[in-house]
Amino acid sequence: MKIAFFSTKKYDRQSFNEQLESYSHTITYFEDILSPETVALAKGFDAVCIFVNNPLDRELIRMLSEIDIEVIALRSAGFNHVDLEAADDFGINVYRVPAYSPEAVAEHTVALILTLNRKTHKAYNRVRENNFSLEGLTGFNLHGKTAGIVGTGTIGTALLKILKGFGCHLIAYDPYPNDDVKNMGVDYVSLEDLFRNSDIISLHCPLMPETKYIINREAIGMMKTGVMLINTSRGALIETSAAIEGLKSAKIAYLGIDVYEQEEHLFFKDLSERVIQDDVIARLMSFPNVLITGHQAFLTSEALHKITQTTLENLTLHEIGKNVPNKVSMNV
Ligand code: NAD
Repeated sequence: MKIAFFSTKKYDRQSFNEQLESYSHTITYFEDILSPETVALAKGFDAVCIFVNNPLDRELIRMLSEIDIEVIALRSAGFNHVDLEAADDFGINVYRVPAYSPEAVAEHTVALILTLNRKTHKAYNRVRENNFSLEGLTGFNLHGKTAGIVGTGTIGTALLKILKGFGCHLIAYDPYPNDDVKNMGVDYVSLEDLFRNSDIISLHCPLMPETKYIINREAIGMMKTGVMLINTSRGALIETSAAIEGLKSAKIAYLGIDVYEQEEHLFFKDLSERVIQDDVIARLMSFPNVLITGHQAFLTSEALHKITQTTLENLTLHEIGKNVPNKVSMNV
């Protein structure tokens, strides 16, 4: 198939070019995101390939159908950025890459937990300035602390396995409990009990209408004072204004996020020469106990390899008229 590849980064091009010779597809890389302004670039192609930073609303999907695009190939597991109803209505197939490397995201989650706790980012800068003082660097043992995991799918489960090794007491909430997780000795509890009893809360459920702002004022009100809150899932799981209030009142003692509600205006771009216009993230960045990474939890070479392989396989199955198990639609 002829693929128009949007939001190309150097690491994408490298990974796709490495595997492309095993497939019959051709790829043309564009650095821009797919938008009403750039959609004309996709004319003459069979498929567009996009990343999570690329919202596709009904109007843009209509424009894709007008230029006969058959497939929207997502280089991501999450698909909340695509209007699936519109894709169904216009007969465009949407394929995703489920579970490309749960360990990549789980390990980055642990990196956020450990950095916030043991302040290695601050120690690194101090030592480079010949400042060997330990003042303000006190952390806490993870051993014996209660970690509450919201969503025990592939990433939540991978994280639970790592935290078990640290000797944490593990509790979880998921409307669909998983037997493998129960067999690890994890207790499923209600969301309210998880909020009330956890020292560390980590979010691993998808963003859906039911989970938007699952962390709001009421939820934060239930949490232990001094809680550590981590989100490597989707930004809008946390009501950011409520988290800022929680940080100001010291209810939240640590916040680690790899995702942010308004991230599409910021993440994946070098804005170092610009003035950030988003006052909410600017406020978040001003807290000494907030650690933000720019949606990089997925970014390991193993994950990139798997994303590339599954994306190309999805397109091959489509091309030869076979069922694509990774199709997402309103009915699947
Ligand atoms: P998954 O589908 O394997 O697991 C999601 C789990 O959430 C399921 O067990 C499901 O039952 C549970 N769930 C559904 N509704 C829930 C609710 N209301 N409350 C609690 N749990 C609920 O997904 P996954 O592969 O583990 O990925 C989880 C999320 O991680 C994705 O939706 C995506 O948003 C995010 N993600 C982020 C990155 C990154 O780079 N930061 C990379 C990949 C995925």
